[in-house]
Amino acid sequence: MASVVSKFRKSKNVLQVSSSCGSCKICEKKCPLGLVPYEYKGDILSHPDCIQCGKCVAACAKKSIGYVK
Ligand code: SF4
Ligand code: SF4
Repeated sequence: MASVVSKFRKSKNVLQVSSSCGSCKICEKKCPLGLVPYEYKGDILSHPDCIQCGKCVAACAKKSIGYVK
């Protein structure tokens, strides 16, 4: 049951950029819309054009971008 709840929450797709971000800029290069995820370091990734594709999440070696739990 807990895993079902967890998946439901992930489906809301609220992304957050952790303060562990090292500003390597790889996420910016991977974003298909040219957004700059690291500009939201320490905050919610709230850009209105973000389509929640998750490419920046997958690209970040430091795992600094993730879904809000
Ligand atoms: S890929 Fe990760 S560590 Fe690099 S700038 Fe983006 S959020 Fe920061
Ligand atoms: S989720 Fe996709 S569209 Fe949104 S910032 Fe990351 S790479 Fe760009």
